[in-house]
Amino acid sequence: MRSVSKYFDGGDTVANYKLDLEINDGEFLVFLGPSGCGKTTALRMIAGLETPSDGEIHFDDERVDGKQPADRNVAMVFQNYALYPHMTVRENIEYPLKIQGVPPEERDERVAETAELLHIEEELDSDPAEISGGQRQRTALARAIIREPSVFLLDEPLSNLDAKLRLEMRSELKRIQSELGITTVYVTHNQEEAMSMGDRIAVMNEGTIRQVAKPEELYERPRTTWVANFIGSPPMNLFEGTQEDDTVDLAGGNAIPARNTAASETVSVGVRPEDMSVTPGPPETDWTIGGTVETVEPLGEYVLVNVDVAGELVNVKVPSTEVDPGQQVHLTFEPEDAYLYDGDGELVA
Ligand code: ATP
Repeated sequence: MRSVSKYFDGGDTVANYKLDLEINDGEFLVFLGPSGCGKTTALRMIAGLETPSDGEIHFDDERVDGKQPADRNVAMVFQNYALYPHMTVRENIEYPLKIQGVPPEERDERVAETAELLHIEEELDSDPAEISGGQRQRTALARAIIREPSVFLLDEPLSNLDAKLRLEMRSELKRIQSELGITTVYVTHNQEEAMSMGDRIAVMNEGTIRQVAKPEELYERPRTTWVANFIGSPPMNLFEGTQEDDTVDLAGGNAIPARNTAASETVSVGVRPEDMSVTPGPPETDWTIGGTVETVEPLGEYVLVNVDVAGELVNVKVPSTEVDPGQQVHLTFEPEDAYLYDGDGELVA
């Protein structure tokens, strides 16, 4: 995608603005972002269901943005995929090949192969109404894959499934995609899904791409406070303050350490909830943050402690804790676990 923009309503709605993105052959690329950030529109432009208002889309060295969807060899699966109810699973999967005029023998072979890949061999003679939600979703995927598209486009395809099935399909989809090596673009607002499946993730907000990176890089080096605040569950805590040398003064008389850079006077220091600890009593040094425990949520795997620090809620994720709501506590972290962002929210160190 080269500087691709899409406007609706005579330019009043900017759905996408100057998207620049190169997706590699065989890559699993995820568009991740909050509702309304323009993920679906970007995907629909790749599919050919929307025409860019500006910019160019190329598949290899062929420009495709003026081409019809049928001339792009893409397959798309939506959240609300629909199977033909009066056809069996086999007939549903076979249908695209029938339309293409593929001879019956080859069709049978390809249906068998695809059904095996998606583990629905046993369901081929059932009607869609007789199979489970997960099997219906697999059938929809099989119908898309059987055409051997050069690009596979998926728009929240798992959101209608229950949590357990979603987890299962997540790894299945990833397996199928890497077995087939089809270049895949996947839209989701679910960061766990994005992190677990994507080779790279394009994080979107307000129609633009904020960062494109591998999942671990996105977590380890969020380039802006916006991305930092979006990735992680709960996301990174951000402390705004004024930097002087290696100290950042925060509201409420708190102060924390920061790497000594002359980036800007106003900065944000980011610390992930899992990199903080919470201890009862008043702060012991200049470099701690004092607050009051609001809630303590034992979540099995860890305990989430919410602490009110000068009117802002700070999340702390600890293996166990002895603090209680209402208690005065202080928060600590290792200075090397903190991120420093300048006044514009850009990562400094
Ligand atoms: P969601 O996750 O809620 O589906 P999204 O990130 O996929 O959201 P889009 O559906 O791409 O977002 O929408 C981006 C913006 O463009 C929104 O403000 C939306 O209202 C607007 N938009 C999308 N399609 C149209 C259209 N056909 N006409 C007018 N506005 C549109």
